[in-house]
Amino acid sequence: MRVFNFSAGPAMLPLEVLATAQSELTDWRSGMSVMEVSHRGKDFVACAARAEAGLREVLGIPESYKVLFLTGGASGQFDIIPMNLTAPGEVVDFINTGQWSTKAIAGSKRQGLAVNVIADEAASGYTTTPAPGSFAVTPGAKYLHYTPNETIGGVEFGYLPTAEAPLVADFSSTILSRPIDVSQFGVIYAGAQKNMGPSGLTVVIVREDLLGQARPTTPEVLNWTVQAKNDSMLNTPPTFGIYLLGLIVEWVQANGGLAAMGARNQAKAQALYAAIDNSEFYSNPVAPSARSWMNVPFLLANPELDGAFLAGANQAGLTNLEGHRSVGGMRASIYNAMPIEGVQALIDYMTAFAAENG
Ligand SMILES: *Cc1c(COP(=O)(O)O)cnc(C)c1O
Repeated sequence: MRVFNFSAGPAMLPLEVLATAQSELTDWRSGMSVMEVSHRGKDFVACAARAEAGLREVLGIPESYKVLFLTGGASGQFDIIPMNLTAPGEVVDFINTGQWSTKAIAGSKRQGLAVNVIADEAASGYTTTPAPGSFAVTPGAKYLHYTPNETIGGVEFGYLPTAEAPLVADFSSTILSRPIDVSQFGVIYAGAQKNMGPSGLTVVIVREDLLGQARPTTPEVLNWTVQAKNDSMLNTPPTFGIYLLGLIVEWVQANGGLAAMGARNQAKAQALYAAIDNSEFYSNPVAPSARSWMNVPFLLANPELDGAFLAGANQAGLTNLEGHRSVGGMRASIYNAMPIEGVQALIDYMTAFAAENG
C-alpha cells in the first residue's frame, strides 16, 4: 500500500509519474530502458531537450538564461557558485535564515571570499525572515545569496529581496511550488529530490552574462560555462533524473502549472497551520509571515508523547514525520506531490491523537 510520505527529501513523487516511468522502465525506446541508452544518442538528447523546454515553460525562464543539469547536489553548489562567479578575496553578501544559509555561507568562506552577513535571524532562533528593506547590501558585493525556503526551520520568504548585485538563491525545497519571476535572479539552484525528481540531479539556472568568470582552477565538470557550451553533457549527466524531471514538469503542466500548484500548496499549508494554531496540543514556532508552504515543523506540548505520535502515524500510513535530528519534534513536508487528502489525513490523525492524549 502506498503511504502519505511526509519526508523532507528525497520526497514523495506523483503516482502518475511513477506509473509512467514503471510502464516504460524496461522498454523506453528501441527495446531499452532510459538508463541503458547513450546520453549522446538521439533519443536521450531529445529527452533532455524536452525536459529543459518543459522546465523553461513552467518556470517562465527567459531566453537569456542557461539551464544546466548537473550533479553534486545543492550542497555542491555552495562551493561551486564561488568558483564560477568570484575571485578569492572578493566580497559577497548573505542573508542567514537558518541551517542551509549557514552551510552556503561556509562554502563561500571555504572558497576564500569575504562574507558579509547583512541580515541574520539568530535573535529569533531562525523563526523569521528579515523585514523587507531592513538590510543594506554591500557596495561592490559580487552577489547576494539567500535561501528562499529553509527546509529544516520551515521558514520561507514571502517576498523577493532586492540588491544591485545578482541574487543567488537556493531553491531546493520550494522550486515549482508557486510562480516566481526568474528574471529577478542571477542564479537559481536546486537539488531535484524535494520537488522535481529523484536525487542525483542538480538544476542550475544562470543568467548568461554571469558566465565566463570561473576561476582558472575550477574543475571542468563544475564549470558552468563549459557545461553550458556542452548542453550539460561534458561528461555523462544523471540521465534517469533528467528523464524523470521531464515527466514531473509535464505533470505540473497537466495540473494547471505553477499558479495552480501555488493555490493548492497554499491551501494545504493553511489547513495544517490552522489545525496547529487552533490546538493547545501542537505548536509551530515560526512567525506567521515567514511560514513555509512546503515544510511545516511542529512540536507536541509533551515531547514524551513523540514516540507514540510517530508510531500511530505510521500505523495510519502517514510516514516520515519525525523532525530533523537537529531540532526534534515533528516536520511535515508537503511538496507538490502531497495531495490535499494526505494533509487532511494528517490533520484528522493529529486531532484524534490530541483528543486521546491531551
Ligand atoms: C535539501 C537541501 C539542500 C541539500 O541538498 P543536497 O542536494 O542534498 O545537497 C540544500 N539546501 C536546501 C534549502 C535544501 O532543502
